[in-house]
Amino acid sequence: MDLGLQEKVIIVTGGTKGIGEAISKEIAAEGGIPVFIGRTPEDGDKLLKELEANSQNGHFIQADLNDPEACKKIVAETVKKFSSIYGLVNNAGTNDGIGLENGSPKKFKNSLNSNLNHYYEMAHYCLEHLKISKGSIVNISSKTALTGQGGTSGYAAAKGAQLALTREWASELLPYQIRVNAIIPAEVQTPQYNSWISTFDNPEEKLKKITDKIPLGNRMTTSEEIAHTAVFLLSERSSHTTGQLLVVDGGYTHLDRSIT
Ligand code: NAP
Repeated sequence: MDLGLQEKVIIVTGGTKGIGEAISKEIAAEGGIPVFIGRTPEDGDKLLKELEANSQNGHFIQADLNDPEACKKIVAETVKKFSSIYGLVNNAGTNDGIGLENGSPKKFKNSLNSNLNHYYEMAHYCLEHLKISKGSIVNISSKTALTGQGGTSGYAAAKGAQLALTREWASELLPYQIRVNAIIPAEVQTPQYNSWISTFDNPEEKLKKITDKIPLGNRMTTSEEIAHTAVFLLSERSSHTTGQLLVVDGGYTHLDRSIT
């Protein structure tokens, strides 16, 4: 299916690793131009080389999204280089384990800042350009927003707020024909997931316990499966879909109680 993303400029925060990297690659494979953001230049350069080797386009911007000036600069650099922005994928985030009992008000605020504020800032600065392109925003949230996890108040609150903002922005941006949707992943094997699972005494056993509970295929979701949904939501092929929260998780969040 041709998604019609050729030459479309799409910013992907955290687009150099894990889910974001898969989304950047999928945009490039569709002929679009992913502008991927990360803190580590080696990862950005590696991805850029990989795209170039496939005769695909892309651009890396090194930035720390926690820097208050970063989002404004990312948007300005993108527009200076490409003159337009069609899409935004808000994806960068870290499950930082700031809980109620083991956290503090200061750590909670920092966790919210680093998981939520740049979603708003990126959308805010991209807006004037998305109005011209009648573009699309995709927010990557998490199942923790729906199920909780325990011991991660800041992250769960940020992920819940991202779902609320998806509905809120979808409403506010109707007059401009800008669509806003969210993807809710559950268990996706990425660098972040691997470092979390390695904190358990027996990571393989823990992983098996988790995958045994994933109804569709008893396996993890792949980053590519999240990316396929993301490019669909970015594209005109989903032209009447807005304000939707899509759970891409092999039925993990919703089907478990229905299976005996
Ligand atoms: P990951 O493997 O840690 O990759 C995160 C990406 O974000 C990297 O490119 C990282 O690059 C970048 N990043 C993080 N903080 C940044 C910052 N302050 N400034 C700039 N770049 C930053 O994570 P992932 O597992 O792919 O997760 C991606 C998204 O999916 C997150 O929002 C996460 O909450 C969500 N999610 C993931 C899962 C899962 O099972 N993996 C489940 C539910 C939701 P640098 O390290 O170079 O900064």
